[in-house]
Amino acid sequence: MTDITDPKHFLLQRFANKINEIEVAWSRLRDGPWHRETLQTLHRLLRSLAGSGTIFGFSRVTDSARACERLLEPLLENDAAATPEQKTQVEAFVAALKHAADHPDAADLSSKSGMLTAVPRGRDRPLFLVVENAQTATELTNQVRHFGYDVHTFTTLDDMSRAIPVALPCVVLLDLAFITEHRVDSAIHLQNIRAVFATLLFISTRSDLDARLHAVRAGGDAYFTLPLDLNLLINKLDQLTLSFTPEPFRVLVIDDSSLSAEHHASMLQQAGMHTRIVTQPPEVITALIDFQPDLILLDLYMPRCDGLELATVIRQKQDYVGVPIVFLSAEANLDRQLAALSLGADDFLVKPIVPAHLVAAVTHRAQRSRILRGFMVRDSLTKLLNHATTKEQLELEVLRAKRKGTSLAFGILDLDHFKSVNDRYGHVTGDQVIKNLARLLQRRLRGTDIVGRYGGEEFAVVLTDVDGARAVAVVDELRTAFEDMPQLSADKTFSITFSCGIATFPTYPDAIELTQAADKSLYEAKRAGRNRIVLG
Ligand code: GH3
Ligand code: MG
Ligand code: MG
Repeated sequence: MTDITDPKHFLLQRFANKINEIEVAWSRLRDGPWHRETLQTLHRLLRSLAGSGTIFGFSRVTDSARACERLLEPLLENDAAATPEQKTQVEAFVAALKHAADHPDAADLSSKSGMLTAVPRGRDRPLFLVVENAQTATELTNQVRHFGYDVHTFTTLDDMSRAIPVALPCVVLLDLAFITEHRVDSAIHLQNIRAVFATLLFISTRSDLDARLHAVRAGGDAYFTLPLDLNLLINKLDQLTLSFTPEPFRVLVIDDSSLSAEHHASMLQQAGMHTRIVTQPPEVITALIDFQPDLILLDLYMPRCDGLELATVIRQKQDYVGVPIVFLSAEANLDRQLAALSLGADDFLVKPIVPAHLVAAVTHRAQRSRILRGFMVRDSLTKLLNHATTKEQLELEVLRAKRKGTSLAFGILDLDHFKSVNDRYGHVTGDQVIKNLARLLQRRLRGTDIVGRYGGEEFAVVLTDVDGARAVAVVDELRTAFEDMPQLSADKTFSITFSCGIATFPTYPDAIELTQAADKSLYEAKRAGRNRIVLG
């Protein structure tokens, strides 16, 4: 029996309805004459579906819808009908959408309250490995899996192509022999895959220029020669897949005219950004705190409070000095523009503005501000949260747990005998070991857990909604996985372990006591022989 009050069921029903509409619009285009209006409708439906998918954590739907949207964009722009090949691709996406909605898996619609599992985060899509030689395929698969990647292996291009719309890989790692020794049209086919989906990486036994040129022409983003330098490959994969999938930019639009505000906000939303509109200056401060914008788009003239004054007020608030302010106004007077810039505004845009221009200016500024803030909160070697930010997050999580009446665990991990790794294999290898542990922690823990680099060879984790026994079990899984992970130096493979001290809330009622207790337990774990976990 279906429970219609089940919110998950309700959402799935909503998704199914939307996908139905998409199917109808698509079949009209596919079977009938090509209509620009129907294409626009289809594009809008896909965009809205992708948006809902993001909000409700249905990432497979979002990914397919976004990819299909991207495929349609050039057609909209050039006012062109789809080629038979493009039609096949859209068909595959629509099928993938239906499939995702008909077969929701555990990760869907629940990523925010996600279950504790040892599989990569829901957002992490699989890696496709396409190699002709079965033995090479097995070897490579095993090596790459060790680093937490979900590897799907294929021995023909056709099998791989069929699996793409369903599994939505993030990276395709392909044997160059497929395009140098086979049909020429594979290269064209691959270009299509790459335009819509994943990054394409080539592997080959050849290292000559000709081979590399082949790879570049087929759209390859990187090239690795066999035998594979695994460190190089994994670093590249991490760069591509672990780069903290960006959250949409948040833009606060301040304008006394709600019509004008909505007009600009909708341009930004069309580009996938989140917006909040404020038409009354007194509401600005609350909006800054609640919404935490990446950028403020500010109208220069407002009746109660001039935009320049408002910018000054915002700039005087210590927490928001870093948030870019972009003025948007019909003001063509250069003096006024300069006055705005001298007050610390980052840009001055003149109305009316075309969407592409507004989106580009906002993206550019917001991106920079994110990068700068990222430097302040993340450790440069591992890209994990730094010490100060990890402690802040622990405090926030303790407050949240108190409010919700839930439990949490705080763990400090420290590499065992790490000094001897540096001594024996050098600092560069030591750094690589630190990165390997960082990556493992990130991949194996849930998106809701917090992972930080606490010190040189020390890490901290905050596991939400778990008791002591569960936390120990989770970290123990990490411990064995890490112990089994081959660490590579220039000429050798070795292994290394970590010890961990854990303390839980509410047994320890605040961040300070949790930290002291976890530290003390870590010390005990070391004294008892290392490579173990002690719960305080
Ligand atoms: P124990 O099992 O007691 O923790 O032994 P240990 O050798 O790991 O501990 P100790 O605190 O004596 O040494 C930690 C070493 O970690 C010393 C330091 O050079 C090294 N280290 C700290 N940060 C980094 C880093 O960023 N990169 C590298 N390569 N080494 C680091
Ligand atoms: Mg230490
Ligand atoms: Mg140590």
